[in-house]
Amino acid sequence: MKLYSTNNHNLSVDFPTAVFNSMPADKGLYMPVHIPQLDQEFIDTIDQFTLPQIAFKVASALLQGAIPADDLKRIIDDAINFDAPVVKLAEDDYVLELFHGPSLAFKDFGARFMSRIMGYFLKDNEQMLDVLVATSGDTGGAVALGFLGVPNTRVTILYPKGKVSDIQELQLCTNGQNIHAIEVEGTFDDCQALVKQAFADDELNAKLRLTSANSINISRLIPQTFYYFNAYAQLKKQGKREVVFVVPSGNFGNIAAGLLAYKMGLPVKQFVAATNVNDTVPRFLETGVYETRPSVQTYANAMDVGAPSNWVRIMDLFQNDKAALQQILKSYRFTDQETLEGMQVLYSDFNYIACPHTAIAWKALQEYRKDAADKDFAGVFLSTAHACKFPDIFPEEMKAKIEIPEQVKNLAKKQKQSTVMDTAFESFKEYLNSY
Ligand SMILES: *Cc1c(COP(=O)(O)O)cnc(C)c1O
Repeated sequence: MKLYSTNNHNLSVDFPTAVFNSMPADKGLYMPVHIPQLDQEFIDTIDQFTLPQIAFKVASALLQGAIPADDLKRIIDDAINFDAPVVKLAEDDYVLELFHGPSLAFKDFGARFMSRIMGYFLKDNEQMLDVLVATSGDTGGAVALGFLGVPNTRVTILYPKGKVSDIQELQLCTNGQNIHAIEVEGTFDDCQALVKQAFADDELNAKLRLTSANSINISRLIPQTFYYFNAYAQLKKQGKREVVFVVPSGNFGNIAAGLLAYKMGLPVKQFVAATNVNDTVPRFLETGVYETRPSVQTYANAMDVGAPSNWVRIMDLFQNDKAALQQILKSYRFTDQETLEGMQVLYSDFNYIACPHTAIAWKALQEYRKDAADKDFAGVFLSTAHACKFPDIFPEEMKAKIEIPEQVKNLAKKQKQSTVMDTAFESFKEYLNSY
């Protein structure tokens, strides 16, 4: 597999280089030089395959031998060891539940695959890989649980003290082994600044092999294509052909993976990006002007992004052809009030408790159906996290009804382990130096 930079199509690096660098030096993003087409026979019979089988087929096509088949199969079976069911909610409305992994969010797909790919390419006796992550909540849990026990890796997670939910904190602080959690007496921005400083520090880089695990890594994007194919397979089983995917979006990595799957031959009628009031992309699709803004805090805080980092990948997939993109991609934005209404209607009408991000996707599906000329399609909205991760947003009655999954019940029994730290870089540097 060869990859270029969205800023330089003449660049050509191999897959391990793209994985360990995360980002090319020119600050573009890595994209596959060749986007493979899956054969028609596979698409026509896809409903006969399981999620791991589909994942293997898609990954093999993308990776083009970068990992031998037996090894790739083992990595996939280990990484994608939980389900992604499509649940019928109403006539032609389906929810694709992506929260059945260890951290209860779709980021488990990316983080588990990435950690195993990195572990695979690390040779025995090679220097330990130090993964530094700043998190405002969801990413940290997925990365911590993804790398837990992966040989030759160590993860240091920084999160803002008192600013993540109880469950998110448990996911960060109860792992032990190769996972270290630091609660920073500051904001998420402070955490991010500390990580950035560490990457720029010569002394630390001389001593440790530092890498980031952020969402722009190509090895996080690839596994996110798997569940689009698998969702299509599940709907095909039920005789559905025309599928619309609605994706709650922040950094636009999830929907970029869907569009990549589409470019590989997945039959999709329409993609719909659903955002909160951080609406850089909806504004772009309406006006043709791409203007980033500082992010605004909302209930759907994993989507509080004013400058979506994966957007350049989407433009690249469509060769910057705005008109083509406006055809396949529609977009809707919602306020906190509308988000809450969505959560309440899902509960009262369908007895379904959805996290705020998921509720925004459901709202967007309803809006899209109103606007669509042809309403004969299966609408699939992606549920990106389990409701129990965002308990403070729910009205009391609904909150009491949220089922607590086994993963969380087990966490609550464990001892919290973390280091409290101020925002001075010297403190963080001293901590890393003591490794
Ligand atoms: C990260 C996240 C999103 C946004 O996904 P992007 O790939 O950044 O668009 C949506 N919902 C939840 C729950 C998330 O954790």
